[in-house]
Amino acid sequence: MTAEVISGTELARTIREEIRGQVSEFEAAHGSVPGLATVLVGEDPASQAYVGMKNRAAQEAGIHSRQITFPAETSEAELLGCVEGLNADPGIHGILVQLPLPEQVREEVVLEAVAPHKDVDGFHPVNVGRLQAGVPGVLPPCTPKGIVEILLRSGHDPEGKHAVIIGRSNIVGRPMASLLLQKGRGGNATVTVAHSRTRDLAEVARQGEILIVAIGRPHFVTASMVRPGAVVVDVGVNRVDDPNSERGYRLVGDVAFDEVREVAGAITPVPGGVGPMTIAMLLSNTLQAAKASLEGHG
Ligand code: NAP
Repeated sequence: MTAEVISGTELARTIREEIRGQVSEFEAAHGSVPGLATVLVGEDPASQAYVGMKNRAAQEAGIHSRQITFPAETSEAELLGCVEGLNADPGIHGILVQLPLPEQVREEVVLEAVAPHKDVDGFHPVNVGRLQAGVPGVLPPCTPKGIVEILLRSGHDPEGKHAVIIGRSNIVGRPMASLLLQKGRGGNATVTVAHSRTRDLAEVARQGEILIVAIGRPHFVTASMVRPGAVVVDVGVNRVDDPNSERGYRLVGDVAFDEVREVAGAITPVPGGVGPMTIAMLLSNTLQAAKASLEGHG
C-alpha cells in the first residue's frame, strides 16, 4: 500500500481563505477587524522569520497585525509593561510573544501576564487548565489544533479511534491528548501518550490507528512501528546535513517518510504538513478571540 499524502499546505491555504471571508463578515458586522500583536525580543533569525510569516499571514487574511520588536537586552519589567498595554488595547484581540526569550526574562512570567482571552498561543495556565477540563470555547495551542483540522478535513475523524501520540511536551503532545479526548467534534478518541521512558515503544506505536509523532528526532519512526493503514502525522522539524542543498541542510520529520509511506494509509509530509497548519490556526485563534470579545467573554 502507498499512503495518501495529506498536504498541510493545501489545507492551510483553504483555511486561510475561509478565515479571510470570516474576517470580512466580522468587519461588515462590527466595523472593525480582529487585531493580532506579535512581540519579538532580540534578533534571532529563526524567530524573526517566524514572526514575519505570522504577520504576513495575518495581513493576507485581513487581520490587523502589529509587530513590536525589542532589543535583546530588554528587561522583564519593560516586556511586562508592553504586555499590559496590549491587554488593555481594545483593538488587539490576540497577543503572541515569540519564544525563546532572552535569559534575563522569565518566560513563564511573561506568558502568564498575557490576558487569557488574548492568549492566541494557548500557553497560559488558565487556558491549559480549561483545555484539560474540556471547557468549551478555550483557545488551544495552534499545532495540535491544526492537527485536529488535518484529521477532520482529510476524512480521518478521530472519533472512536485509538490515537497514539509520541511526545509529551506542553506545546504539542499534552494539548494534543487533551484535544483528542474532548467530547465533541475532533475529539472522542481513545488516547495513548508515549515518551522517552515508554517500554516497548514500537509495540505501543503499532496500536495507533492514528499515530502522531512529536519528538524532534530525524526519521525516528520506521515502518515496523506503524500499524498497516494508520494515519501518520509527523510534527517533527529536524535539520539534517545535505551537501546537495544550497543551505547545506534540509528539513526532515520524525518519521522515515519513504518507508512508512509504504505501510501507512495516510501520512503528512515535512515540510508541507503540520507547519503551515500551525500558522493558519494562529489566525483562527485570533478570529475566535475577537468574536469572543464581542460576546462579552473577552
Ligand atoms: P520537546 O519539548 O523536545 O519534547 C519532545 C518529546 O519527545 C518529549 O516528551 C520526549 O520524551 C519525547 N522523546 C524524545 N526522544 C524520544 C524517544 N527516543 N522516544 C520516545 N519519545 C521521545 O519537543 P516539542 O517542542 O514537542 O517538538 C517536537 C518536534 O516537533 C520538534 O522537531 C519540533 O521542531 C517540532 N514542532 C513542530 C511544530 C510545527 O508547527 N510544525 C510545532 C511544534 C514543534 P520525555 O518527555 O520523556 O523527555
